[in-house]
Amino acid sequence: MKKELIVFIDSGDTLVDESTEIKNVMGTVLKAKLFPGAEENLIKLYDNGYTIALVADGTKTSFDNIYLANGLDYCFSAKAISGELGQEKPAPIMFLHAMKALGLNDDDKRRIVMIGNNLKRDVVGANRMGIVSILASYSPRYDMNPINEEEIPDYILTSPDKLYELIEELEHKVSNRKSIKKDS
Ligand SMILES: [Mg+2]
Repeated sequence: MKKELIVFIDSGDTLVDESTEIKNVMGTVLKAKLFPGAEENLIKLYDNGYTIALVADGTKTSFDNIYLANGLDYCFSAKAISGELGQEKPAPIMFLHAMKALGLNDDDKRRIVMIGNNLKRDVVGANRMGIVSILASYSPRYDMNPINEEEIPDYILTSPDKLYELIEELEHKVSNRKSIKKDS
């Protein structure tokens, strides 16, 4: 059965462990591994009826090299990739493109979450859009301390292992008509 909650998710240092990326001279990712637990949780979300969109900065080729090779590409019902859209997060086009591809409008924002490791891109982008921001806080490579109001996430995901559990908790609230956006 389809779930109400819509999951937008980043790639680098949210699903993919950036320390495992092998790149060519052009900066295209040729290979990369996911964080332990990320694959299982992504599949579990998909298998349980969640609609998932990849909302990520980088080139289409890089993401194809990762997700076609690891066989997880089918989990994404839509993709907003900066290399194709010409702007990176927090640009609204990244989120609007994914919404449009899934047939979602402004009224649906209450049930969209954006999960990402980057405060300035993922969290700010989601907060400015009025969608729910979830900071994936487990990357050792990024600063996780908000420096202003719009960098403050609604929720924090402390481990890829807890992804499914957190989404289920938010789905429960959304399906009971409770707001999950903290500042609204
Ligand atoms: Mg990232």
